[in-house]
Amino acid sequence: MSQDDEIIEMMRCPIDGTRIITKWRCENGHEFKETYGILDFLTENVESHELLERVAPIYESLWAPLGLSLTAGTSYSSLMSSAASSMGERHLDVGTGTGKLFDYGKCRVCVGLDVSLRFLNYLKKKRPNVIAIRADAKRLPFKDSSFDSASSLFVIHMLDDPSLAIQEIHRVLKDKGRAVLTVMTDNNAIDKILSRWWGLSLRSYDYYLGVLTRYFEVDKARKMGAWSYFEVVKS
Ligand SMILES: [Zn+2]
Repeated sequence: MSQDDEIIEMMRCPIDGTRIITKWRCENGHEFKETYGILDFLTENVESHELLERVAPIYESLWAPLGLSLTAGTSYSSLMSSAASSMGERHLDVGTGTGKLFDYGKCRVCVGLDVSLRFLNYLKKKRPNVIAIRADAKRLPFKDSSFDSASSLFVIHMLDDPSLAIQEIHRVLKDKGRAVLTVMTDNNAIDKILSRWWGLSLRSYDYYLGVLTRYFEVDKARKMGAWSYFEVVKS
């Protein structure tokens, strides 16, 4: 099967959940665009954070590594390596940004999803082998049990209801599929400053642990400065 056919087979319409029958139309005739190699499956306007849009050009070289070492007490590359170490054959990265995670692991079908066209354009230029999909984390355009592994790093604490994204990641993972999540949580003084700066209301480590436990077996869980790190398995 060609990679295009495999992707078509894995996807579903984010509006009605029906099969994608051709590039890129569902059984009920909803059409989706492909521009510069980016599949656009966003069905309503979901805004990317304005601050993130502005730092896109320096995001992976400077912003994320510096920000993480200051706020998590760990290096960006060690966190990315540990997140990528459980990558399976088909991997989905939700809120992938420039797709930097894919430099650290191996997958055959590597899918990076984001709402920001700006970030996805960077991804496509730097990592043409990654399949770039613009879609909403709350309504993933994939069939159930499509992926061996998934990740969502530094993203879902920005959603109004993070549990919807967690539920969706669970749905698209195969049984025994692994997921790695890092989220900003209200652990300390740093995140109070960060959350005010970003205009976010943060949830607690226990909130995420509680939601994750509803869907997954939690393998690793720890606080890292302003962040929390979870590795979970679909049981
Ligand atoms: Zn449809």
